[in-house]
Amino acid sequence: MYDYIIIGGGIIGTSTAWRLSQRHPGKSILLLEKEKDLARHQTGHNSGVVHAGVYYQPGSMKARFCRAGNELVYRFCQEHGLPYENPGKLLVATNPIELARMGKLFQRAQENQIEVEWLTREQLREREPHVRGVGAFLVRKTGITDYRRFTDKMAELFRNAGGEVRLGAEVLNLKEMPDELRVETTLGDFAGRHLITCAGLVSDRLVRMLGLAVDFQIVPFRGEYYQLDRRKNSIIHHLIYPVPDPSLPFLGVHLTRMIDGSVTIGPNAVLALKREGYHNTDLSFRDIKEMVAFRGFWKVIRKNLRSGIVEYKNSFFKRGYLGLVKKYCPEIEADDLKPHPAGVRAQAVSRNGALVEDFLFVNSRRTIHVCNAPSPAATSALPIAAHILDQAERVFS
Ligand SMILES: Cc1cc2nc3c(=O)[nH]c(=O)nc-3n(C[C@H](O)[C@H](O)[C@H](O)COP(=O)(O)OP(=O)(O)OC[C@H]3O[C@@H](n4cnc5c(N)ncnc54)[C@H](O)[C@@H]3O)c2cc1C
Repeated sequence: MYDYIIIGGGIIGTSTAWRLSQRHPGKSILLLEKEKDLARHQTGHNSGVVHAGVYYQPGSMKARFCRAGNELVYRFCQEHGLPYENPGKLLVATNPIELARMGKLFQRAQENQIEVEWLTREQLREREPHVRGVGAFLVRKTGITDYRRFTDKMAELFRNAGGEVRLGAEVLNLKEMPDELRVETTLGDFAGRHLITCAGLVSDRLVRMLGLAVDFQIVPFRGEYYQLDRRKNSIIHHLIYPVPDPSLPFLGVHLTRMIDGSVTIGPNAVLALKREGYHNTDLSFRDIKEMVAFRGFWKVIRKNLRSGIVEYKNSFFKRGYLGLVKKYCPEIEADDLKPHPAGVRAQAVSRNGALVEDFLFVNSRRTIHVCNAPSPAATSALPIAAHILDQAERVFS
């Protein structure tokens, strides 16, 4: 019998396993992952941005964990020789409406105690000659890394500390008994005293396996990218972000330098018809059936119908997508947009149709479940792990 079983080998499950092995040396800990490698889903299909924490509600877990996580990501990369860069990010306003929104975000960044610098149109031009805007602000602490390598390194440290990782172990069912938990997987059954689930796109299904009452469901949103033609890689020096529309939940199509020197354009946010569907033609009848049976799904659709249709259009027609980036970087042309793999976000939606904004955890006497860990959860992975460990000490004792 294991002391702890953790399900999900993304960045959250792996950081939790590693931190647990540090805090409780000598305890037996098993990490179960259904894929042949770690970090195959959200963690391995993201923008690689080390966020500073500009956007989030002051005092929220997202705001607190992101700010702390930003420092911890850089420190971890330094200590373990992982690649990272700190080019900073520019939020660019292209018209007076966006300028007013940018003012509010600037204020929020200050409330979140993030160092920001306001730039006039001329100062923006000096820093980024190929970017057009009426103003911008600079977030120095934003950077980039490779979260897949980050996860692999934590798994190595976990194994070195005596932890066990089982790949290709898909969890099929869970049972909580008075004195143990039974985890049924494709590799056989495992028994544990305590369970932590970090299953990203299927977090709700694992919670339901235990019969816990929850008020949310995961709705998948695909984030599609293009890669900029390599000849234009030096067109930007910072990460370039639009000012997000506050009525929409995602950050808007941005230009991101990746750790290998390439530049991605994206991601958009398209409702996915399959939880692990990385192509715009992928669909799963099980996933669709679950979605349409959920009241919150229809409310989200009603609230976001117009923007949803635009996102679909831009997903199928490159010209529309191009327009989003041309707005602030007019020199990019359709031929500069090369294919790049998409990612799928796991977004919890409540029964009343609200996208759950903050990180969300649910627990029973022997279990803790990470139910909503969208961006900036990669940046925040180490503080999230610390939070889970603190919660485990309270709940499990
Ligand atoms: C397009 C996109 C861009 C993003 N950009 C950024 C960014 O720039 N910066 C940032 O901080 N965050 C970003 N994020 C968010 C970030 O990637 C995620 O919040 C983070 O990776 C979540 O990690 P996770 O471990 O919870 O989930 P995942 O990485 O999805 O891991 C969950 C794991 O659970 C496993 N699993 C599921 N079911 C089972 C089962 N039944 N049995 C066994 N294993 C199972 C899966 O195979 C998977 O490996 C982005 C996300 C997306 C999709």
